[in-house]
Amino acid sequence: MSNLSDNEFLTSLRTVLGDELVLTGDRVPEKAISDASQTGRNLPQVYVRPRSVKDISETLKICNVYRRPVVVQGGMTGLSGGANPQKGDVAISMELIAGVEDIDTAAGTMTVLSGTVLEQAQKEAERAGFLLPIDLGARGSCHIGGNLATNAGGIRVITHGMARDNVLGLEVVLADGTVISSLNHMLKNNTGYDLKQLFIGSEGTLGIITRAVVKLKPLPSVQATALCGLNSYDNVVSLLRHAKRSLSGLSAFEVMWEPFFRFSRQGEGHNFFEVDYSFTVIVEQSGESTDLEAFLESMFEEGLISDALIAQSEMQREAFWKVREGRALRALTDRLSFDISLPIRVLDVYVQEVSATLVTAFPGVHISVFGHVADNNIHLYVSTGNDDPSTKERVTTIVYERVRQHRGSISAEHGIGLLKRDYLSYSRNADELELMRLIKKTLDPNQILNPGKVI
Ligand SMILES: Cc1cc2nc3c(=O)[nH]c(=O)nc-3n(C[C@H](O)[C@H](O)[C@H](O)COP(=O)(O)OP(=O)(O)OC[C@H]3O[C@@H](n4cnc5c(N)ncnc54)[C@H](O)[C@@H]3O)c2cc1C
Repeated sequence: MSNLSDNEFLTSLRTVLGDELVLTGDRVPEKAISDASQTGRNLPQVYVRPRSVKDISETLKICNVYRRPVVVQGGMTGLSGGANPQKGDVAISMELIAGVEDIDTAAGTMTVLSGTVLEQAQKEAERAGFLLPIDLGARGSCHIGGNLATNAGGIRVITHGMARDNVLGLEVVLADGTVISSLNHMLKNNTGYDLKQLFIGSEGTLGIITRAVVKLKPLPSVQATALCGLNSYDNVVSLLRHAKRSLSGLSAFEVMWEPFFRFSRQGEGHNFFEVDYSFTVIVEQSGESTDLEAFLESMFEEGLISDALIAQSEMQREAFWKVREGRALRALTDRLSFDISLPIRVLDVYVQEVSATLVTAFPGVHISVFGHVADNNIHLYVSTGNDDPSTKERVTTIVYERVRQHRGSISAEHGIGLLKRDYLSYSRNADELELMRLIKKTLDPNQILNPGKVI
C-alpha cells in the first residue's frame, strides 16, 4: 500500500474513532506482539481500541475498503498464535468492550460484552447466585469473546461441555462492518441455521464477536476433591465409568501420568503419597451434597484405586490443583506443548507409542502428560533440550502423525491459530477443508479477517 493510501486509511480511522483510539508507532503497546504462546514477532502497524460495537463496525468498514488485514485481540492468553499480528496488521483490542449488561434470574442467562474478563463475569454470576460454567486457568485475563472465538474447553467440560455448549445467542460484526444481532435468550429455537455456531471457534477469521448470551447454572453449595493413586490405565478408565454412573455432580476428572505428576509435585514441594503411582487422578464433585468418601471406599474395595486423599481444606484442594496446573514445566524453556484428543480407550496406547518413538529419536527427552481424560483430551509437553526449528518440526510430526493414525484431533481445545495451521489436514479431510475455505470466502471475500490463520 502506498504512503498516500496509508495516510488516507489512518485519517479515515481517526476521523471516525478519534485520535486517542487509533495508535501507531511508539504508542502501540508491547503486549500487542504476542499471545501466551510467546511466538509473536511483530507489532501491529495500527492498534485500534474501539469503545463500542459501532466503533468496531466503522473500523471494519474502513479496513474492508482499504483491504487492510485485521487481527482481533482479546485477553492474549491464547496458545496457538491466533491473536499474533502479522506484518502490517491492524490489531483491534477488545478490552474497552467490556461489562455484564444483564442477568436474567428467571431464565438463568447472562448478556455480556465480549471484552469482559472471564473471572469478572464469573464473579457477577456468583453474586447473583449462579455459576458461569465456562472456566479455565487463564480466567483472570482471558475474555469471554476470546473463549467463544476459540471454543475454549477447560476444567468443567465434563459437566457443562465446551464454550459453545453454554451459548444461547451472539452478536457479531462481519468483515464489511455489518452487525449481525442474534442475541437469542431461549433454550429452544429451531428457526433455520444456528448462525452463532459458525462464529464460535472461528478464531477471529469470520467475524468479531461483540456480545453473547450465555447460560448460567445453579451455584453448587458443596465441593469435594480427592487425589487418587492408580496402578494402571485400565483402572483409570474403570474409575471414570463408575464415577460417571455413581457420583452425581462429577465436576472434574483430571489424570496425571506418573512422570508429569512426579515432576510437578516435586516442583511444588509436595509428597502426597508414599509412592508415585502410574496414574494420579483428581476427582471432584460439586453439588448439593457429597458422597465422594463413600464412593472412593467402594472403589478401593474393588481394587481400582490404591490410595486416596480427600482435601480437608481449600488450601489442600488448591495444592492438588496446583500440581495439575504444572507450573514446574515452565523451567523447561525449550518445551513444546500439544493439546490433542483421542478416543479414551487409546489415550494411553498413544502416550506409550509416542513416548517410545520420541525416546528413540531424542535420548534423554522429557515427556510430561496430563489431561481431561473424560473429555478425550490430553496435554503433552516435550523437552529435548534443543529448540532449533528442525528439532521442533521433527517432534511435532512424530506427535501429530500418531494422532492422525488414531483418527484424533491435533487441537482439542486451544484452536489452530497460526501454530497448527499447517497440520490441519492431519485431522480434517479435503472436503471439510474445502467447505471451510468456501465459508471463509463467502463471509470475508477480501480476506481481511485474521488472514493466514486457521486455514
Ligand atoms: C494459564 C493458561 C491456561 C489455559 N487453560 C486453558 C484451558 O483449560 N482450556 C482452553 O481451551 N484454553 C486454555 N488456555 C488458552 C486460552 O486461555 C484460551 O484459548 C482463551 O479462550 C483465549 O481467550 P483470550 O481472550 O485470551 O483470546 P486471545 O488470545 O486474545 O485470542 C484468541 C483467538 O481468538 C480471537 N478473538 C479474540 N477475541 C475475539 C472476539 N471478540 N471476536 C472474534 N475473535 C476473537 C483472536 O483473534 C485469536 O485468534 C489457557 C491459557 C493459559 C495462558
